[in-house]
Amino acid sequence: MVPIVTKFVFVTGGVSSSLGKGLTASSLGRLLKCRGLRVTMVKLDPYINVDPGTMNPFEHGEVFVTEDGGETDLDLGHYERFIDENLSRKSNATTGSIYREVIRKERLGEYLGKTVQVIPHVTDEIKERIRRLADENVDIVIVEVGGTVGDIEIVPFLEAIRQFRHDIGRDNVCYVHLTLVPYLAPSGEQKTKPTQHSVTELRGRGVQPDVIVCRSDQPISDGLKRKISLLCDVAVEGVISAVDAPSIYEIPLVLHEEGLDRVVCKMLQIDEVRHPVDLSSWERVVSQVSSSDRPVRIGVVGKYINLPDAYLSVVEALRHAGFHHGAKVAVDWIQAEEVPDLLGTERLHQLDGMVIPGGFGERGIEGKVTAARFAREHDVPCLGLCLGLQVMVIDAARHLAGMDRANSREFDSLTPYPVIDLMDDQQNVVDKGGTMRLGAYVAQLLAGSVVADAYGAEVVSERHRHRFEVNPRFRGRLEEAGLVCSGSSPDGRLVEFVELPGHPFWVGTQAHPEFKSRPDRAHPLFRELLGAALVRAEGRLPRLLDIDADVGALP
Ligand code: GLN
Repeated sequence: MVPIVTKFVFVTGGVSSSLGKGLTASSLGRLLKCRGLRVTMVKLDPYINVDPGTMNPFEHGEVFVTEDGGETDLDLGHYERFIDENLSRKSNATTGSIYREVIRKERLGEYLGKTVQVIPHVTDEIKERIRRLADENVDIVIVEVGGTVGDIEIVPFLEAIRQFRHDIGRDNVCYVHLTLVPYLAPSGEQKTKPTQHSVTELRGRGVQPDVIVCRSDQPISDGLKRKISLLCDVAVEGVISAVDAPSIYEIPLVLHEEGLDRVVCKMLQIDEVRHPVDLSSWERVVSQVSSSDRPVRIGVVGKYINLPDAYLSVVEALRHAGFHHGAKVAVDWIQAEEVPDLLGTERLHQLDGMVIPGGFGERGIEGKVTAARFAREHDVPCLGLCLGLQVMVIDAARHLAGMDRANSREFDSLTPYPVIDLMDDQQNVVDKGGTMRLGAYVAQLLAGSVVADAYGAEVVSERHRHRFEVNPRFRGRLEEAGLVCSGSSPDGRLVEFVELPGHPFWVGTQAHPEFKSRPDRAHPLFRELLGAALVRAEGRLPRLLDIDADVGALP
């Protein structure tokens, strides 16, 4: 075996899902980076789908797209935003993708006639997926194991990570286990029993944690830490109290305060003196967060609004743009289907800006077209993302270019004006997985356009995830009607950006710029959207009316 110099941290979770394992892993990643270590991350997902690309957002939240076109778990978005590194499809492996590979090898006879089994063949494939992340440019791979200890599907993953320490040596592996320490009001106590059970379950699989991160709403006392340490056989310094933080950006600082990165370095025999911590870059982010207070209200017009995780990167990109301007963004989640009914109300007029995010399927489309039109006619700054661009083009076709019933062929196969349509290479695609236009594509921007000015560049690259495109047959008519196609693929065939001159900001992109926004580097389009929204917000104070809408302030 090739000697591995890279070290590995495995993050598992117990007691309950949704404890914030992804954010804990990301925060640890950031802290290790703040110690000058080169970090990369991978998420192992025990479900059977080959990737989350075919899952309904209600099932799984957003699908995060990597530069190389991987359709991955939304935790990769947290990883990229926290460790500030672009990841690739290699950073997400599911049971489905692992079995697919094992079965492929079996069909090719690569197992030399052996009986193919979970141990060793599936576990070897899992280990291979982990090991693949290690190279001479990486000091530490953080491996988050999805799901909760005790799940049936997680067993092969726990076995693989158990073997991993045996394979590469004790000093090269650290196991971090995240649990919940609930406070029970009747007894007035924090309870450690769920943590004990969870650790027992983990040990039953042969994994003894080195660090236990305890989520709780109140800090965990030293006495309780000693109890957990004794009962779970973890050093006291390895029991970390992770209290709910006012914003996700504070989590790295909270965990550092508790000594998480120090104890992980110690376990991995990483010399603290050679790797002192410098938190200044992240502290700047946090101070930006707390000083952002200019109120601004952005409507997000979507169809999965009951599960805001479906738009996670969009919301994060709005937040980052807020940090840039010192603004606190309140998101008004607007159900796309309800937009036509809202036209006579004040709710839409109260918006300072609007985002029309991506999506699939017909439901809510007319509402989104109506929203795009409302923003256009009432000078509301509006940013359309992927499907958002497509509905802006539909609005322009119907209401500026006189193409009655113009539509996308995705929603109306008989429309007389299919202004959005499949290109030839997508006509006969049957396999739904991984067959869209996926990942980073370059666009050439029009000099002097709003988008070229926003980016400060004329050649840009953004990540894509869609099948349909602006139909080149109608481009001329749309442009005559006033729509500016301000960015195209380098060969000029595909429309990548549209905008409307004279409007404060009415911009659509066929891409998903939200995936590239970072807390300390707001994405140029979100930054400009928010800039225009702030002009609107601050130019018409005081507000005469307020609305009784579901407006959530973003921490
Ligand atoms: N459904 C549209 C398409 O496939 C848009 C997809 C999206 O918004 N990501 O082209």
